[in-house]
Amino acid sequence: MNNPNYVLGVDIGTTSTKVVLFTDKGEVVRQDSGNYPLYCPTPGAAEQDPEEIFSEVITTINQVLTDCPLSNLLCISFATAMHTLIAVDEEGELLTNSITWADNRGAPWAEKIKAEHNGKEIYQRTGTPIHGMSPFVKLVWLRHEKPEIFQQAAKFISIKEYIFQRFFSEYVVDYALAATTGLFNSKTLTWDQEALAVAGITEEKLSRVVPPTEIFQPIHSGFAEAMGIAPEIPVVIGASDGVLSNLGVGAISRGMVAVTVGTSGALRMMVDKPKMDAQQRLFCYPLLTDKWVVGGAVNNGGIALSWVREQLAANEATTAKLLQKGAYELLNNIAETTPAGAEGLIFHPYLAGERSPLWDGNARASFFGLSLRHTKAHLIRAVLEGVVYNLYLVFQALEDVVGKGDTILASGGFAKSSIWRQILADVFNREITVPTMHESTSFGAAILGLYALGRISSLDVVTDLVSHSDIYQPIPENVSVYERIMPLYSSLLTKFQAEYAAIARIQEETASQ
Ligand code: ADP
Repeated sequence: MNNPNYVLGVDIGTTSTKVVLFTDKGEVVRQDSGNYPLYCPTPGAAEQDPEEIFSEVITTINQVLTDCPLSNLLCISFATAMHTLIAVDEEGELLTNSITWADNRGAPWAEKIKAEHNGKEIYQRTGTPIHGMSPFVKLVWLRHEKPEIFQQAAKFISIKEYIFQRFFSEYVVDYALAATTGLFNSKTLTWDQEALAVAGITEEKLSRVVPPTEIFQPIHSGFAEAMGIAPEIPVVIGASDGVLSNLGVGAISRGMVAVTVGTSGALRMMVDKPKMDAQQRLFCYPLLTDKWVVGGAVNNGGIALSWVREQLAANEATTAKLLQKGAYELLNNIAETTPAGAEGLIFHPYLAGERSPLWDGNARASFFGLSLRHTKAHLIRAVLEGVVYNLYLVFQALEDVVGKGDTILASGGFAKSSIWRQILADVFNREITVPTMHESTSFGAAILGLYALGRISSLDVVTDLVSHSDIYQPIPENVSVYERIMPLYSSLLTKFQAEYAAIARIQEETASQ
């Protein structure tokens, strides 16, 4: 029997780098991950040290490849977190940390760009919502609030560009990741001159743009040695983690919707042409010249259940330990004792403000409809349902913009919960499928790597390589309950939205007294 060939998928995320060695048939051989801290030294800041990430990437790749049959390693391919911004000087020295998507300091500038700098038109070309997370907005913030750094900067790059510069001594970026900067025309795949002018920079301050399939070699020998690879191994630049996660769960045809919910969440569909949302609720990013991903990212995913666990369920967490169960598992069991709709209790899950579909940093969570008959079990169920109601609003926006979604692929931490998966099936009134592959983003990177090398002729082969563990059908009685609740959820939301700014103001003023 021939030895299999291998591909290494590397997913550089916000909390960790995950490295997975796959066979070229998509089987996981080995995997490991390495964490790094997020620094929040001042209000709104959320930064990481690029050197800490770089060294964790090297170490984790080395850990996965130690004692592996390296002679058949075909390539390394990268997925990276979106929306990071790093300023470097002429010598390549860091002027800032990596300012992550979660950094909120630029938020007030987003409003200004929308109101005074043609933000709507710019979004229609870039596909990146004008929001504090976007490097475009962060640049405007840097220009006005940190002019000494802005003026000294020779380049503005992302974490992937930083890593590739270290490997190959060149500033390069794939167009899939460039598209998440808010400075890039997602339709023409070139930098957007109007966005650059608003940011106050020219193209020289940005990296050379290449396709996600571009191959780089050789890696500087010192780094190759540290990772335990031969310097001439092809390195595929890859794409953003968002589009590669869609590829990795096999959601690549029209009508297939990937719903990924970890701490936060996202809903995405792949289409063959760029589609912008006239109401600016969704993003639109390219993967290749015939594949774009349209979707919405929500802040309030699993974080809502983790809030319940920490704030409302200390006793349950202790009981779970005694029962040798996970705390989430016990919370799921408790929620299962109540019926669909939580007997009239509705939770709006906006504990962390919200991106899609509201784009309102002031949004707040609330329970509506509480009565004496409600128990903690109802509260837990309402929280699970509220997260899904919000996802459903994003789903409706997605269907408005790109057309019907028939197949839902659920992944991320929430997909471990059978009650949450059933609620998803019932609120969406669609069949839900759960892919078995957990590291779907690294898998997407590996598939793109095989495509870049010409080992597969189309990305479509991914559908043969992804296996599914569970299928959930909507339960008709639950569907009809949720069909009655959804309009109420939306009309309450409209009323609450009118007051979110007021409660935020009261909170700010009382905190500063
Ligand atoms: P991250 O987004 O940080 O990578 P995960 O994808 O592991 O994390 O998702 C973590 C979230 O998934 C938790 O906040 C929790 O809400 C949810 N979760 C994890 N396990 C379960 C479970 N067994 N039941 C319900 N929810 C779960």
